[in-house]
Amino acid sequence: MRAVVYRGPNDVEVEQVEDPRVEQPTDVIVRITSTAICGSDLHMYEGRTVAEPGIVFGHENMGVVEEVGSGVVSVQEGDRVCMPFNIACGFCRNCLAGNTGFCLTVNPGFAGGAYGYVGMGPYMGGQAEYLRVPFADFNCLQLPRGEEHEDDFAMLADIFPTGYHATELAHVSPGETVAVYGAGPVGLMAAYSALLRGASEVFVVDKVADRLRLAEQIGATAIDFSRGSAPEQIQERTAGGTDKGIDAVGYQATVSGGEEQPAVVLNNLIETVRPTGTLGVVGLYLPNDPGAPSEEAKQGKLLIDIGRYFEKGLRMGSGQANVKAYNRHLRDLIIAGRAEPSFVVSKRRPLDEAADAYARFDRREEGYSKVVLTP
Ligand code: NAD
Ligand code: ZN
Repeated sequence: MRAVVYRGPNDVEVEQVEDPRVEQPTDVIVRITSTAICGSDLHMYEGRTVAEPGIVFGHENMGVVEEVGSGVVSVQEGDRVCMPFNIACGFCRNCLAGNTGFCLTVNPGFAGGAYGYVGMGPYMGGQAEYLRVPFADFNCLQLPRGEEHEDDFAMLADIFPTGYHATELAHVSPGETVAVYGAGPVGLMAAYSALLRGASEVFVVDKVADRLRLAEQIGATAIDFSRGSAPEQIQERTAGGTDKGIDAVGYQATVSGGEEQPAVVLNNLIETVRPTGTLGVVGLYLPNDPGAPSEEAKQGKLLIDIGRYFEKGLRMGSGQANVKAYNRHLRDLIIAGRAEPSFVVSKRRPLDEAADAYARFDRREEGYSKVVLTP
């Protein structure tokens, strides 16, 4: 089959690789109909991780079940399904508690399992024609058959549940004000989720104009950090700061001049949120980042203003999203016509054009806020 293979920094190629097959009785094989490129793929793409050439990328996958292992009971050939980016067993202590992003069976000791991601197990990604799905009864979300809502459902594998998870970590309640740093696909989904949960005002911080326009399109207030301090701009519009704050940028944050400063968003959030507020951190931080600008940052040790954090009595939640905890009810909102996360999908490209799509998404080019590949 054809698949997107990592060849080295800033280099992916669509190549012929071996077809996946049922390896365990609990597996299914899915024929991929949509597979999205994620900001998380860019960390590997840019050569900032220890990813070795040869990895097949792709953790945001949906499609139609083609083959079913003998031990699978609830999934059948022909079912239209979407897979959480987390691969989880469903029966370990963390999965039973709903923390499927931290499954102890598929990748013990690490941040759970995922398709096509360095450090998250040996699982091949789905930017390809076919995908092997382990523990398929647990990891397949059933979708209505046909082609309706394809772009919306494709967002259920990662960014819609991840954005929602950010609002859950930050305990966003009706009537509250929320600051979201980052208007990438994840930040936009966090802002959208905060509004779905009844937030009264959501501020979205970025400097990329078409991303800020998307934020305004869904009813958020855009804050351009290239025009001056984001915390100050938000403080001016709120009495003493927002109730809640979300980091949807992570360690690759830049300051207005374009220079990288890995802890800047966490420190901005500490300034932006009112005393006793809560922060939800879904932007990625790595325990080792060979591409970071300082020796400390290379080891994931960042200068966080813990004094101000303590003084303000803030709380914080972080980590990989437990997609499975939210994907059913978010699917049902889409079916009911109450959510349309596909507003972030600006481009659909054939799988064979993945190299060009990666390069443009990586440059944050106009019109490339989220790219879905069609095999
Ligand atoms: P992205 O790179 O497309 O978006 C990041 C945005 O942040 C960009 O638009 C950039 O301009 C903006 N930005 C940079 N510096 C900033 C600053 N100082 N202040 C405000 N905005 C700034 O990525 P994405 O796909 O939206 O993902 C965002 C983050 O979420 C990534 O780190 C990704 O790895 C992570 N992620 C986490 C999970 C999870 O489960 N926790 C899942 C998916 C993605
Ligand atoms: Zn993703």
